[in-house]
Parts: sequence; structure tokens; C-alpha cells
Amino acid sequence: MSLPVRPAVLSSPAYPFTPIDASIKLDQNESPYDFPDFLKALALERTRATAWNRYPDLNAETVRRAVAKFENWDERGVVVTTGSNVLIGLITELAGMNRRVLTVKPSFSLYALEAHLLEGQLCEVPLNTDFSLPLEELKRELETGNGVFYLAQPQAPTGRLDPVREVLELLEAAGERWIFVIDEAYHQYSGSDYRAVVRGRANVLSLRTFSKAWGLAGLRAGYALTSPELALEIQKLVPPFGFSTLHSAALEVALEHPEYLLERISETVQERQRIATALQNHPSWTLFPSSTNFMLIQTPDADAAYKGLLERGILVRKQGGNPMLEGCLRVSVGTPEQNSAFIAAALELG
Ligand SMILES: *Cc1c(COP(=O)(O)O)cnc(C)c1O
Repeated sequence: MSLPVRPAVLSSPAYPFTPIDASIKLDQNESPYDFPDFLKALALERTRATAWNRYPDLNAETVRRAVAKFENWDERGVVVTTGSNVLIGLITELAGMNRRVLTVKPSFSLYALEAHLLEGQLCEVPLNTDFSLPLEELKRELETGNGVFYLAQPQAPTGRLDPVREVLELLEAAGERWIFVIDEAYHQYSGSDYRAVVRGRANVLSLRTFSKAWGLAGLRAGYALTSPELALEIQKLVPPFGFSTLHSAALEVALEHPEYLLERISETVQERQRIATALQNHPSWTLFPSSTNFMLIQTPDADAAYKGLLERGILVRKQGGNPMLEGCLRVSVGTPEQNSAFIAAALELG
């Protein structure tokens, strides 16, 4: 007997993730550093000063305003939710249900997962073999029909940043028929910034998160930067009072003290280069160039490499399923000590 649940949900897999303990955790593209302790203390103080018996802001207005100020964006065009993955679900609900959900493959698995759950017509165009964008096929798809298009820049899990002019070509092809989502989860590590492209295009949106460079994955917060018109429509789908007072207090403190970010980002970028240099002559592993805080690495045998690393206390992410990622592991950039341990293990395993 099966439950009286929509078949699309019954037939969808759960999000593929199994937590595993390891002393060096490089599997989730998190910041290896916690939120600075003095800021945690400030956030806790502010949390304590709020009234927990009262509902929070209806639409996280206080945080919206702080994000708008930080990003130099019209506050009416900001939507804040508990993680950008929530926004991916809502945007699919907004524009992909009974319509098309277009993305590339491989890409962030949540785009396809939400399309399945919400019964969008999923179309995943394979990347070229060098992971560059399949421009002609994408343009052909975008020139007909409507729906939502998800594109991560830089991309995940390949770590590649595509030329802006290619994205502009895709925008041109999409016209005003598609909700065009540029997922900028890792933009701090690539130095790219699509705000100027999003500005003035009502159907285009940049998705950003506090989970990576900000080092606040545990807090759960992400946001969209878009036009006031589109923000209004998305906001209708966000549960009212969905962003708690505790969330708001901590995020406000973070947004008032972004100084710690730059130093961390520059360390990660330097470390990424150090790892790439150290492993460029590896006898059997190939690193793909990365513009993010993680690297995609091709090995002769992903299971063996994964196991060998884990035996040395290092947890990384396997990339199952996609033939283009055969043998591949995804490894986050950690602290310098963690990265040195990873480099040593990688050379030993070769
Ligand atoms: C990590 C990541 C996000 C962020 O998700 P949150 O829900 O904000 O933690 C979004 N998009 C991509 C491609 C990511 O890798």
C-alpha cells in the first residue's frame, strides 16, 4: 500500500546526503572557520534582548534592509529566507510548476530535485566536455517556451566561472519569458558579481547565501536580489513570519561587521592556488581549475580515493551518478593545516 501522496513526491529521492564524522571535514564547501567569537557574543546579547513571545517581522524586514544596504540594492528587491535552497524551491513553485525547468548537467542537484517534486518539465542540458556552457543548445531551449532557468556562476560542482558575455547571450535568448536565476553562492571566491546585469532586468535574479564565505551555514540564511516586482511575487510564497527573531539578530550582527570576510576569502583563494600547484604533477589525479572554495578532482577510482582519504581522517564528497564526473571527488578548501594534510594524503595515495 502506498501513501496518498502525489506520485511526483513518492518517486523523488530524498536529498542525497549522509553525515559522516571525520577530523578534517572538507565535504560541504563550508567555511573552515566559525563565526568570530566576539560577534557570536554580540549576536547572543542581541538575541537575549528580543521578545521571544512576539512574532518576528512579517517578511524579515529588518534583515532585508540590512542586506539591501550591504549590497547597495533597492530593499524592495530583496527576499530573505532560511537558506537559498528555500528560494530554489519557491522560485520553482513560482515559475517552474507545469512549465519548464532548465539547467545544465552536472549542476547543483537541488534544481532538478525541486523540478521533480513540483512536476516541472525538467531539461538538463549537458555541459561541454571541458565543462564550458553548451551555448547553442541552451539558447535553442531558451528561445522557445517559458519557465525558470537555473545557472550557478561560478558553477557547482565544477567550480568553473564562465565568461559574462556568454551569460549575456543566454539572457538575450531568454528575453522576458523566463525567470532567469544566477546562483552566486560562491561569487566571493571568483570575484564575479552579477548585480549590474540583474539591475534593470525585471525577470532576472541573483541568489546569494550566508552559508559559504560568511561562515554561517548553521544559521540558515540566503537571499535573492531582484526587481521589486519579482520580489513581491516570490514573497507571496514565503511563509509569513518565517524568519525567526534569533536568525535576524545574528544576521544583523554579521552584516554590521563584514570585516572578517575579506581576509578569509583571500586566504581561501591563496590556499586554492597552493593546493593546485602542489597537485599539478600528481601521477594520477587531475584538478579542474576552480573559481570557488572547492575543487573538483578526477581520480582513477573515486571509491578508493575517498576511502584512502577517510582513513587519513579527511572527509570529501563523492560525485555519483553523472558519467561526466566519473572518478571525481569534490574537496573543500580548508584551513592551511587541513589543506597540507590533504595534499600529503593525495600525494601518498597517488
Ligand atoms: C551551497 C550552495 C547554495 C547555498 O544553499 P543554502 O541553502 O543557502 O545553504 C546554493 N547554491 C549552490 C550552488 C550551492 O552550492
